[in-house]
Amino acid sequence: MRSFVYNGQPSRVVFGAGSLQYLEREVSLLGATRAIVLCTPEQQALAEEIAGRLGSKSAGVYPKAQMHVPVETANAAIAEAKRVGADCALAVGGGSTTGLGKAIALQSGLPILAVPTTYAGSEMTPIWGMTENGLKKTGRDARVLPRTVIYDPGLTVSLPVDLSVTSAMNAIAHAAEGLYAQDSNPVMDLMAEEGIRALAQAIPKIKADPADMHARGNALYGAWLCGTVLGNVGMALHHKLCHTLGGTLNLPHAQVHTVVLPHAISYNAAAAPDAMRRIERALQADDASLGLYKLAKDNGAPVALRDIGMKSEDIDRVVEIAVQNPYWNPRPVNPEAAGALRALLQRAWEGAPPAP
Ligand code: NAD
Repeated sequence: MRSFVYNGQPSRVVFGAGSLQYLEREVSLLGATRAIVLCTPEQQALAEEIAGRLGSKSAGVYPKAQMHVPVETANAAIAEAKRVGADCALAVGGGSTTGLGKAIALQSGLPILAVPTTYAGSEMTPIWGMTENGLKKTGRDARVLPRTVIYDPGLTVSLPVDLSVTSAMNAIAHAAEGLYAQDSNPVMDLMAEEGIRALAQAIPKIKADPADMHARGNALYGAWLCGTVLGNVGMALHHKLCHTLGGTLNLPHAQVHTVVLPHAISYNAAAAPDAMRRIERALQADDASLGLYKLAKDNGAPVALRDIGMKSEDIDRVVEIAVQNPYWNPRPVNPEAAGALRALLQRAWEGAPPAP
């Protein structure tokens, strides 16, 4: 048995269809009496309904969450939470909304109660992100880890099929990279493999019937496991490439993860054979990277960066940034790897299957 360090991260998870009914109890258990309900403009109706359920424990709805948490949005939300005397940030939505809750918690120490409606997994991590002048800053801080998470699969039924598939692939990416993390441990390996299995089984079922509650439950269960992996161990080349493509070129988050993942896994395959075996078992596939490519393609997800807004002339810029300041990776990422990375991105740009 290898040596490892395992850090349990304290959070309470309430899971199950209909679990939103426990919201008021969960707010009270946090010792809170005035929760500010955060959401994106698109999810305002849901947030209003949730605020209505809370009655006097609601400090109102703040419907201004945006992708990548612009610092101006964060500052305005912090000021609003203070103005209404909030003692809890209730984040209802995907990673963008949880991110706004984290910005408030980072500054004020307010506890976050998260109600995720995508599979992004931010609710299980102590990682915050904020964007200033087009540059995304990230950091880790125990204060931003949501204290309570209510996972109610019923709230994910409205997530459009295309976003459901790419959001699920985004979650799988956390687990896949967690399996070869430098600081991985046996508990995270179990969670990662089970998370990939649950999501891979759910994706075709959600595509066939977006209201399939059994599949929605399995996908959210997988998202919880994969998010936990993301919060516990370091990420590698795949996440570095996606942060560059998302942050520098402003490409859409979940779609970028979906396209890049099979290629990043192929790049690392020979250097991380144990991780590949686990991914293959979870996908019931002969080859991890091809299995991921097929899972995305067969379910109508984009497989080419050119189809989600990237220009071919940007490939060199992304390679340059990726080799300049790399994350730890099982196969070295250094200036000598620039040719291989360029080939990886060329295939991802064209939508070709990952290199064998
Ligand atoms: P998102 O939160 O931006 O949501 C995308 C869109 O889908 C929004 O318009 C949202 O309102 C809508 N939506 C969400 N759930 C819905 C539902 N059930 N029904 C209908 N519409 C719904 O997207 P995301 O992929 O969840 O999050 C992406 C962001 O989260 C990125 O900024 C990413 O960097 C961040 N993120 C952070 C972490 C972390 O640990 N800090 C982890 C994962 C993602």
